[in-house]
Amino acid sequence: MDITGDLLIGYNAVTRSERPLHGINPATGETLEPGYVVADAADVDRAADLAWAAYPVYRGLSLDRRADFLAAIAQNILDLGPQLVERAVVETGLTATRIETERTRTVFQLRLYADVVRQGEFLDRRIDPPLPHRQPIPKPDLRLRQIPLGPVAVFGSSNFPLAFSAAGGDTVSALAAGCPVVVKGHPAHPGTGELVARAVLKAAQDCGMPEGVYSLLTGGIDTGTALVAHPHIKAVGFTGSRGGGLALAAVAARRPEPIPVYAEMSSVNPVLLLPSALANRSEELAQGYVASVTLGSGQFCTNPGIILAVDGPDLARFLATVGEVMAQVPAAPMLTANIHAVFKKGVDALSAHPDVTRVAIGAVSDGPTRSPAAIFVTTAEAFRADPHLADEVFGASSLVIRCTDLAEVQSLLEGLEGQLTATLHLDDADLSIAEGVLPVLEDKVGRIIVNGWPTNVEVSPAMVHGGPYPATSDSRTTSVGTMAIRRFLRPVSYQNFPQSLLPADLRTA
Ligand code: NAP
Repeated sequence: MDITGDLLIGYNAVTRSERPLHGINPATGETLEPGYVVADAADVDRAADLAWAAYPVYRGLSLDRRADFLAAIAQNILDLGPQLVERAVVETGLTATRIETERTRTVFQLRLYADVVRQGEFLDRRIDPPLPHRQPIPKPDLRLRQIPLGPVAVFGSSNFPLAFSAAGGDTVSALAAGCPVVVKGHPAHPGTGELVARAVLKAAQDCGMPEGVYSLLTGGIDTGTALVAHPHIKAVGFTGSRGGGLALAAVAARRPEPIPVYAEMSSVNPVLLLPSALANRSEELAQGYVASVTLGSGQFCTNPGIILAVDGPDLARFLATVGEVMAQVPAAPMLTANIHAVFKKGVDALSAHPDVTRVAIGAVSDGPTRSPAAIFVTTAEAFRADPHLADEVFGASSLVIRCTDLAEVQSLLEGLEGQLTATLHLDDADLSIAEGVLPVLEDKVGRIIVNGWPTNVEVSPAMVHGGPYPATSDSRTTSVGTMAIRRFLRPVSYQNFPQSLLPADLRTA
């Protein structure tokens, strides 16, 4: 398939001679062709207006047709074959294996949502019969179902070029809910975005979807801001920095009609090494830790950024192994020069901190956008004294906090901001300690993991990839798994409706 650099608004490609936006291969620094058209205010208007016109038609289609559309997108993405993998690799610096894994997840997610739509349980239909003879007043006939919110703006993420971008988790959950989608692609991977968007649009045309059910806009901050401010956009899905998420939430809140912004932002994902597990398995834990911190150059929102453990010889053995294992891990390219610069700044700040010591460093390797992974250690006292030590350093960096006892572990946990995940490494002898910290963890995070690492996020009906602020802007939601559809639905009650006027799926007979 040709990669053109055009905007894909409805079923029309918008082409212009001025094409200032280029992908850059972060592994080599090479500028990639073609240049991309940047969407201006009129393009945003057109995409949002088309989405608005498509909305009543799209939401009125049968669930089977909606499901067929999602399944067709999945097949079209697979049909892109090696071209998609090759383009994503050069635009992101991620390995082909990682991109293939992400493609599998993306396709699985689309097919899973096709099933969810076909089954229709997400509509949460309720029928509460009338009680005409109830005293002192009769009870009316009440029926409820969920309807879609309207067109949704989705921001592609830098670190998931497939699973959280043009046809990723936000897009598929919004389309499944019955919402047209306008994607603001991430500028780091415009070619990957275009290929996927063309796969979505082909599926839309083949399945007879209304024009405007999907558009892809390439652009910068102005494009995204105009999209969120547009009166025809009714909700936003975002994954990225806290600054970006909050800026877009502020734009949404200032609108004459404020709308929800589901932003997944920053998290340091605390990991607790409980005493018995640390004593029995320090080597295995060290290997798992390094693998999790360095996976994908650490560019995961679920990266284990903080470890809490009671100080002593077991922790010392753990740290010694961490140092040995980490020394074997070569630095890999990061997603963009900016993300690398921010990572380096964070690591330099930790290195220069008077109360922080570097205990492990990865191997140096040549090429742009790469710095060795690093693990640091500090005390609970220092951690408490400097709130910046709890800030996310996006990339392969992590901080181990030496605590004097378990009460200190618990008190540090209580002081943490909201998180996507918390992890407990425990053996049987640690169970009662785990039970004690569980209520604190439940209050702080969206997912609690036992004897695993947080970087693996399953797409599942039982997954929560969310958490209290600043992990996300709305702790009641998830952006991964089938419950993500709820973000783009709202309930409507139908009171005392004659059968013929009720929506067909709420009629009794
Ligand atoms: P980002 O800077 O937040 O950008 C994500 C998207 O939001 C881009 O499309 C960007 O537009 C847009 N955006 C950012 N600020 C905006 C603003 N003020 N107004 C309107 N739109 C705005 O994230 P990134 O490029 O992926 O990476 C930068 C940093 O974000 C990383 O260093 C890391 O700290 C963090 N990050 C966190 C996660 C996580 O899951 N926790 C994931 C990825 C990144 P343009 O770029 O086109 O201008």
